Amino acid sequence: MLLRPSLFFLPAVRLRMAAPARRSLRMNAEKISAVATTTATATTGKRKRSTQAELDTAVEAETSLTTAKKARKEKPKAPNASVPAIYPAASPKKQRKPRQPKPEPVYVIPEVEKKETTFKGRLGPAKDAVFCSRTCRIDSIKKNGIDWVKELGRKNVEDLLTMIQWNEDHKIRFLRMSSEMFPFASHGTYGYSLDYCAPLLAQVGELAKKLGHRLTTHPGQFTQLGSPKPGIVESSVRELAYHGQMMDLMGLGPDGVMIVHGGGVYDDKVGTLGRIKKTITGVLDPNVRKRLVLENDEMCYNAEDLLPLCEELDVPLVFDYHHDALFPSSIPPTEIIKRANAIWVKRGIKPKQHLSEPRPGAVTLMERRAHADRCESLPMDLPDDMDLMIEAKDKEQAVFHLYRIYGLEEVKQESLRPPNENQTKETKGRKAASRSKTKKVEHVSDSAEDDSEQEESE
Ligand SMILES: [Zn+2]
Repeated sequence: MLLRPSLFFLPAVRLRMAAPARRSLRMNAEKISAVATTTATATTGKRKRSTQAELDTAVEAETSLTTAKKARKEKPKAPNASVPAIYPAASPKKQRKPRQPKPEPVYVIPEVEKKETTFKGRLGPAKDAVFCSRTCRIDSIKKNGIDWVKELGRKNVEDLLTMIQWNEDHKIRFLRMSSEMFPFASHGTYGYSLDYCAPLLAQVGELAKKLGHRLTTHPGQFTQLGSPKPGIVESSVRELAYHGQMMDLMGLGPDGVMIVHGGGVYDDKVGTLGRIKKTITGVLDPNVRKRLVLENDEMCYNAEDLLPLCEELDVPLVFDYHHDALFPSSIPPTEIIKRANAIWVKRGIKPKQHLSEPRPGAVTLMERRAHADRCESLPMDLPDDMDLMIEAKDKEQAVFHLYRIYGLEEVKQESLRPPNENQTKETKGRKAASRSKTKKVEHVSDSAEDDSEQEESE
């Protein structure tokens, strides 16, 4: 079996084999033949003797492989004019067999159950298929310098242009940008201004505007506006300032919002809400505050906890259906959405919400927190004119899935991928948490947050 792949090299190599090489190969072949016979006899037991034909094939294959390797290593010799060439001299390029292009996989896309809706808003993936978040560790910054990190950021922005165009081609007009576009830009020591990237960022904003795309952000979970530790609040404020600068340089309108959670409760929800209020009103730059939006989470602050603060400060609330199902308020979603929408309208910002579903078969809270690969339904309470961020593992495929179910947009058949049939209930949270922890440690030198709150929460 081991020998089989080498048959591939047979014809090409034989042509170029010189006489001494052939002799040495014959010797090798004999050795291999002996080994092969011994092995065959020893391992099979029943099979006392291999046929000579089988062995010949095997030996030829093995020797050819050896020669092929040798031939590949050998540098091409200059043609010798005094010796007539039997075969035309091969150019070095021809010595390599061109790789066969991989055949395009054929995807079988299952039918979807058709449903109806009056929804007219945009659906967007919380993450996109096109990668746009090169990031690094602090050690790399120390080693390579700050200009190197800034170059990563610049490349990420270039990718964002590609992403927006890809989305346009696939009728996706709502996108959450990575919060790691500019690695460590908000870091206390290694942070940097985004001015160097201003022209490129402006280009992104222009493209989004031209195509009517909404761009939003969701700063990392180490953003804790209500932490009792001033250092954490400072780094959180820096993080929001960085997102604000990025969106300002893009020239995004009021719909370009940044969404944060309430964060930890620090054993005192009321006191923490008070500190959040103090940070928003007293510390945040007006350019940041104008984009700030709060979101209910599934562990610490439900919609009911945040609504009074949001209403008091005119900070819009993103209603997350999944989080609300896990940590419901005493008031029904319809009422929450009505009150939340009033803030959006007052501020002149198009409302947005988050949708995800628990994985099939999820029972425990930890299992139910994990997001399913796709969403099967739009929520009952969903207002018609609202942008809905689909926080599902299958990213843009999850958006296409809903497009197909509800006939919201035409989808390109060739861009569809089948759903994973074996969705596990297991949350990737631990991995995400450890990643988040690493990042948190690097961004914020001492965080009091416990890991359970670092579970990937979107
Ligand atoms: Zn969310």
